[in-house]
Amino acid sequence: MKRIANISETKAIIEKYGFSFQKRFGQNFLIDSNIIDKIIQGASLTKEDVVLEIGPGIGSLTQAMAESAKKVIAVEIDKKLIPVLEDTLSGYDNIRIINEDILKLDIKKLISEEGVNRIKVVANLPYYITTPIIMNLLEKRLPITSITVMIQKEVAERMDAVPGTKAYGALSLATSYYAQTELVTMVKPDCFIPRPNVGSAVIKLTRRTTPSVSVIDEAILFKIIKGGFAQRRKTLINSLTNSQPQFNKSQVIQVLETLDLDVRIRGEALNLNQYAQITNKLIKLADLDTKKPSLK
Ligand code: SAM
Repeated sequence: MKRIANISETKAIIEKYGFSFQKRFGQNFLIDSNIIDKIIQGASLTKEDVVLEIGPGIGSLTQAMAESAKKVIAVEIDKKLIPVLEDTLSGYDNIRIINEDILKLDIKKLISEEGVNRIKVVANLPYYITTPIIMNLLEKRLPITSITVMIQKEVAERMDAVPGTKAYGALSLATSYYAQTELVTMVKPDCFIPRPNVGSAVIKLTRRTTPSVSVIDEAILFKIIKGGFAQRRKTLINSLTNSQPQFNKSQVIQVLETLDLDVRIRGEALNLNQYAQITNKLIKLADLDTKKPSLK
């Protein structure tokens, strides 16, 4: 089937339907078929895969994925794009289009309706809700093998960052708790219409079957991580106890000492394993109410 991921086809479709781009929906359509190929290769799509696409737009990525995968379920919020998609994707019998807000959709139900064990998520995401979409997919323990998405470059770098770098933060730790990250490619603003005013990157998150560290209580781990980065230039002790007063200074000092960590250490210098150790020791010391997480 003729590819629509180029400037002339995209403009012709937009004109045919009198479509106007909605900034509030983060609409920047891909017009570079090389990037589409890189996304599909990055996601390692095969004819066995059922793919969930978030925000198909006019269907440029959708049509290419339908050729590589078993089925594509495309969820689009903008009802004005539904007749466009029904037209551009009419030559494929393995695409399901759903007019819905991805943040409101029951994805678990959707996957079970499809009768499959696992799906892959592949998308050129709307940048205004990148983090809520990805964290929702990871935290809800959905049967997702991998998430390969185009996102804002800075967000991709934060997700992929290691301790001691500027981009390292709570998002890096949350991502690495649930998934292995891989930067697939950087993408220039020229590859989209309209051009976004930020750089983009394709990142692949391969979901872990169990979290990368073991903690007594996951919610407390994330509170401690949040506290550790609340005041970046302060020590962990001050940043954590100022923002999360349920932890007191003497307990945190005691925990750092038992772990042989400098009491002046900053939150940004700690890795996920160290945050997990601090969490487990603080919970035991403070005798906090806990529940064991599982990623089943
Ligand atoms: N996939 C297309 C492409 O690559 O050309 C379009 C990508 S564009 C960056 C993001 C798409 O997500 C738009 O089509 C937009 O309408 C849609 N979108 C925005 N918010 C959404 C939401 N909450 N749920 C589902 N789709 C959404």
